[in-house]
Amino acid sequence: MSQIPLPLIGITAGLTKNKLGSQVCEVAHAYIVAIQIAGGLPLILPIGLGDDALSVLLPRLDGILLTGGGDMDPTYYGGEMHPKVYGICPQRDKLEMALVRKALDAKKPLLAICRGIQVLNVALGGSLYENIEDRVTHALKHDWFPDHPRDKLAHTVSITCGSQLDEITGQDEIQVNSLHHQGIFRVAKGLKATGFAPDGLVEAVEVKNMSFGLGVQWHPECLPDEPCSQALFKAFIEACMKNGE
Ligand code: MN
Repeated sequence: MSQIPLPLIGITAGLTKNKLGSQVCEVAHAYIVAIQIAGGLPLILPIGLGDDALSVLLPRLDGILLTGGGDMDPTYYGGEMHPKVYGICPQRDKLEMALVRKALDAKKPLLAICRGIQVLNVALGGSLYENIEDRVTHALKHDWFPDHPRDKLAHTVSITCGSQLDEITGQDEIQVNSLHHQGIFRVAKGLKATGFAPDGLVEAVEVKNMSFGLGVQWHPECLPDEPCSQALFKAFIEACMKNGE
């Protein structure tokens, strides 16, 4: 019996502590569900994988999902430590920086969410605002966390005509959630900003010269009832299925 192969999607994980104080490598379940609904086979990439392991794994993966999480170490982008910077995980930073570079070199489809869009930008030489409200005048409230529902629609994103995001959503403006206190300051040369919040903050980027390389600052995995956000996962998985053909 022949079976349609499911595209294997490597999903980045975070490192936290459980109630007993043990370190736990984990991925929010919503990412796994979103990938499965879109037709992919999610595979968690554990913290601690070194360069050699990534090189072995990458050819076997059809796509990479960079997930949300704590902040990057600001030294990666020449930034400053800020009192609001939280959750730095040196092992995660190291792994994801290497993963982004290898994935782009191999032209693997890449979807980068929240922290992911920030890692993507920094890995390609861009920089971040350490804390939006202290760095951007007249900024909207973007940090609707942790005391708000994760599916709260917080602001609009205007989408650049002709961009990948435009093709996927078919919209020039969409409603998104907003669970971040950092954001993109300087956009990396290898990226193109394609989505903007009403205050001008970059909310979406695409990798130049890639069939599918997309970063979004919001959390589409927490918006299962928003067609435009779910279309992102569908388009990502479709690109992963074509990869290697
Ligand atoms: Mn936002």
